[in-house]
Amino acid sequence: MTALAAHSNKITALYCRLSQEDMLHGESNSITNQKAILSKFAADNGFRNTKFYVDDGISGTTFERDGFKAMVADIEDGKVGIVITKDLSRLGRDYLKTGELIEMVFPDYDVRYIAINDGVDTLKSENELMAFKNIFNDWYARDTSKKIRAVQKAKAQAGKPLATHPPYGYKKSETDKNQWVIDEEAAAVVRRIFQLCIEGNGPTVIANILTADGIPTPTAYYRSKGMSVCRQNVKTKRWGMATVIHILERMDYLGHTVNFKTYRKSYKNKKLYENPKENWLIIENTHEPIISQHDFDLVQEIRSHKKRRQKSGTVSPFAGMVYCADCGNTLYVGRAQTLSPNQEHMMCSTYAHDSDECTAHYIRTCVLTEIILGELNKLSQFVRDNEDEFVRRAMENSAATQDSEMQTARKALRIAEKRINELDDLFERLYEDNVSGKISDERFATMSARYEAEQSKLKADAAKLSETISRKEQKKNDVMNFVGIVKKYEEFTELTPEIMHELIDRIVVHAPEGGRANRTQQVDIHFRFNVVTATATADFKQYYVRRKAV
Ligand SMILES: [Zn+2]
Repeated sequence: MTALAAHSNKITALYCRLSQEDMLHGESNSITNQKAILSKFAADNGFRNTKFYVDDGISGTTFERDGFKAMVADIEDGKVGIVITKDLSRLGRDYLKTGELIEMVFPDYDVRYIAINDGVDTLKSENELMAFKNIFNDWYARDTSKKIRAVQKAKAQAGKPLATHPPYGYKKSETDKNQWVIDEEAAAVVRRIFQLCIEGNGPTVIANILTADGIPTPTAYYRSKGMSVCRQNVKTKRWGMATVIHILERMDYLGHTVNFKTYRKSYKNKKLYENPKENWLIIENTHEPIISQHDFDLVQEIRSHKKRRQKSGTVSPFAGMVYCADCGNTLYVGRAQTLSPNQEHMMCSTYAHDSDECTAHYIRTCVLTEIILGELNKLSQFVRDNEDEFVRRAMENSAATQDSEMQTARKALRIAEKRINELDDLFERLYEDNVSGKISDERFATMSARYEAEQSKLKADAAKLSETISRKEQKKNDVMNFVGIVKKYEEFTELTPEIMHELIDRIVVHAPEGGRANRTQQVDIHFRFNVVTATATADFKQYYVRRKAV
């Protein structure tokens, strides 16, 4: 379906206006006539859910009109998808105000505007609006704004940062104002924030730690350096959760320049909108990194796991990492004030919602902890004794599947890229055919919307594919990283969220087998980067005896 469908549940506003002056010019502008034209146009083009807004006998130079105000109220409530008038002057005769509506208010609420007789349709290229360029008194403003944007775009594509201030942790180079260099004092705080996150602290906890340690907030820091900070009355004593999150998510710390993270819908509208990630312009290695790719990825991964913050305030190292072997859903940590620590357990969340859908997969966390620590120490011993062997096996382990998956991904990416280019050509031809009158405006709108939808889906697919490919290429580095991390720990004696996230991808718990006397339960540990998987069996008798002893 096309753009038309997107608006189908919203109001198609049909606006009519008749002034005293218009009445002198006979029937052609009468409300009845306008209504007939608008109704027919809406029906012919499949615009449903129509609603009339009428102002009878009111001049177009004022916007104090009841029908108009009712329409604007509905627009501001987000109820309106399209506004249609017979011609531009029906909307208003004050061109400045009319322009403001079309250029600012309508885009802001995603409203499409059509003036039938003037050939204006905001869904189509801005060029259509050029037709009445001269009626905008403030047209030059748009031109100026366009020129500024062109300069910014050129700058952005050259990998120069658009931001006037470098992010916290960097400063402008004294020799080249366009170059960022590391500001060691602030960079140390940035590194600490990432480290605190890797150690399992959430943004609020991190903010509290920094505040308690008397670390100046970025605003306070800039002020102490005598730099102008635009907001004068923001709180500078306490670190906020939002500041911490913002820092943890900035790709700039990897040494990349990220431009066009936000955009404006129109030059008159100062509001900034978030640009979807695929529209970001990322230029790699434009300045020195503060955070390594490994740590950055780790932080994003940790943050993407939904963490269950327990009543005690600590995060369970298992939160979001343990899965049910049968339904694939996560196991959740059941902790109650009344339970002693060794009664803390995990259960399948599907089972928790509906006991007919899966079985409990009940496992106590102390049992799971013991199994994982045992496997970690075994693995660590093996890596220490046979590092080369381990690296070779880890690489081979998945080399075969890796290669064929890689080829499939590469091929799919090539096809997607080819089609994206084809669509670009089709767009261009379609546009030319429309200008030359070979195809109607309606047809143009329908087809271009269809092309656009296809292309944006392809672009999203292509982005995913290139990500998959580069992730696979990371493989070798990953294995070496993994070895490095394993060697970092002398011996594993306790499980922290840090260890879990650095070394383990996921844990799969099987349903227990056997009866009460000989119950066993299989646990698979998938180590990170797909390097190795360990399978262990929990023997109930063993753990039962141990529990009794506690
Ligand atoms: Zn399950």
